[in-house]
Amino acid sequence: MSKVIIIGAGGVGRVVAGKCADNPDVFSEILLASRTVSKCETIAREVGKGRIKTAQVDADNVQEVVALINQFKPVLVINVALPYQDLPIMDACLETGVNYLDTANYEPKDVAKFEYSWQWAYHGRFKEKGIMAVLGCGFDPGVTSIYTAYAAKHHFDEIHYLDIVDCNGGDHGKAFATNFNPEINIREITQKGKYWENGQWVEIEPFAIKLALTYPNIGKRNSYVLYHEELESLVKNYPTLKRARFWMTFGDEYLTHLRVIQNIGMSRIDPVKYKGVDIIPLEFLKAVLPDPGDLGENYTGETSIGCRIKGIKNGKEQTYYIWNNCSHQLAYQETGTQGVSYTTGVPAMLGAMMVLTGKWIGKGVFNVEEFNPDPFMEKIGGHGLPWNEVFNIDLEV
Ligand code: NDP
Repeated sequence: MSKVIIIGAGGVGRVVAGKCADNPDVFSEILLASRTVSKCETIAREVGKGRIKTAQVDADNVQEVVALINQFKPVLVINVALPYQDLPIMDACLETGVNYLDTANYEPKDVAKFEYSWQWAYHGRFKEKGIMAVLGCGFDPGVTSIYTAYAAKHHFDEIHYLDIVDCNGGDHGKAFATNFNPEINIREITQKGKYWENGQWVEIEPFAIKLALTYPNIGKRNSYVLYHEELESLVKNYPTLKRARFWMTFGDEYLTHLRVIQNIGMSRIDPVKYKGVDIIPLEFLKAVLPDPGDLGENYTGETSIGCRIKGIKNGKEQTYYIWNNCSHQLAYQETGTQGVSYTTGVPAMLGAMMVLTGKWIGKGVFNVEEFNPDPFMEKIGGHGLPWNEVFNIDLEV
């Protein structure tokens, strides 16, 4: 029986809150806090089953988070606000001696760059304080890292090639929309691509490597190599990897919109004077794009995210593919939001459950592949994200 604070009341926060409310034996009391309290109240009303309290907090302000923690006294803070808030929330957890979990690594607001160095730097202080930070417990990062840990533990003596493949085969009926926070999403995909090969990072132009990969129940989709944060911790934790890449599908229409957004300067993150006021074009763009949380109602199709792995077992080469498919409509019917928020929020709730039930133990800062994958893999299907696996197939990559 444990109290949790969830910070962030977007699409992901809605799923985490609803799923925590569904499991009162683990999450005895739940406080959902965010910058706009009315969004917390809506979520509490719609999916809270009368079990969610709400509060207003500006999580950029460490002392506001400290005060909230001191008032509610949780065992764990689940951070599903934006990556910019990771460090202030970690600072507040350190000050109050409370565990921390998130789904995306820290990004400074003024540089479109994400890496774990800032959060890994907290390891010693979290260890000394006797508390734990669980980093990247969404789907990717999150489940993809746990799939890799599970494969390495049960099916390989050494893993050599890892390709994480992320397909959104859904259709929301809009000309252009992003599936999670548009600002974070556009910053992520307009960066240079990067993958790991033979002990070093290889940098490529955005969308320079493209392959049509086949996704279960969806079919062939154009997939592009991107840099994604879990690669950084996976190559560190699995040093036998000769190559590690991340692929994401994009339709031609999406890429055309993205190119126009970039060409006309709307993806800029530096301030621009407009009528005497500084505005950040990408922040303004977010305000006019569809809210990812509202896409669910008419969203059809599925996501399919998994890991394609090649390595050695008992002296023989083996291939392995493990994945989940998630229906946008089923996610919407259960939680009122689409599949991308669902596939992120369910693992965050389950990771929190692993911490609170003592299945994942540690003092310091950890990426999810460092924990025992088995208790998580046993439970994730029952919470809405069943997985499938096949051996010795053509991996296409
Ligand atoms: P949204 O933009 O829908 O929601 C973010 C929420 O955080 C909003 O409620 C927002 O408040 C709140 N927030 C922002 N700044 C602050 C602040 N300073 N203090 C308090 N609250 C704040 O995002 P999503 O729900 O789509 O995504 C949430 C997180 O999940 C992101 O970090 C994203 O990167 C991550 N993610 C991870 C994935 C994974 O698989 N690992 C996949 C998809 C997303 P307000 O309503 O006032 O703006």
